[in-house]
Amino acid sequence: SDSHFPVPILPCQVNYSLHYPQFFPSSDQIDSSKKIEFADIGCGFGGLLISLSNLFPETLMIGMELRDKITEYVKERISALRVANSGHYQNISVTRTNSMKYIPNHFEKGQLSKMFFLFPDPHFKEKNHRRRVISTFLLDEYAYALRVGGIIYTITDVEELGEWMKACLESHPMFEALTGEELVEDPVVKLLGSATEEGQKVARNGGETFQAVYRRIMPSL
Ligand code: SAM
Repeated sequence: SDSHFPVPILPCQVNYSLHYPQFFPSSDQIDSSKKIEFADIGCGFGGLLISLSNLFPETLMIGMELRDKITEYVKERISALRVANSGHYQNISVTRTNSMKYIPNHFEKGQLSKMFFLFPDPHFKEKNHRRRVISTFLLDEYAYALRVGGIIYTITDVEELGEWMKACLESHPMFEALTGEELVEDPVVKLLGSATEEGQKVARNGGETFQAVYRRIMPSL
């Protein structure tokens, strides 16, 4: 249950020197201008963070994962990569949390420029739809954490969930779809179906995927 992991009361309590020691060598010398900008929600084994780390080496990123053992695995994976590749993988980390409850505890208003929801659990039954990580209600929270112009990336191999995520985003006043051209130009879009362990499994099995990529906008009055 939630009592097994610590939750920051405010985003300023997130311990940057613990997550990114090379960027923040001492906890009393926090450069408050540099903050986490990318969040991988339900990061699983962390494949996306590792790919993004090389693409954006100066951007701080965090994976949020509910399961304890998987979180520990990702921590060890990142530590091992840091040891084997001196100076690299310093900008990625992971935290164990329930993202459906604690996003505002971790991020200030407008802090994030990218949020990822790759192959989230589908929760097929209608009575479990409230457990889905994309919903109209949660999109309000994600819109709060994302800056204007920030991007939310979603992908799934479950067609019904893909339609659901797209419908939630499409009907939300604070999000608009990226155009076809913007999708082609964004290097991150190429990673959605290939960088994570779940994406690789789907690809190996020749499964179809459904993505929805939306930008945080100012709602028009
Ligand atoms: N994104 C990864 C990938 O593509 O390989 C993992 C996909 S896996 C199907 C979904 C992950 O979301 C699981 O690791 C699960 O523990 C995590 N998860 C589910 N609900 C969550 C929540 N409320 N907060 C954080 N993580 C959650």
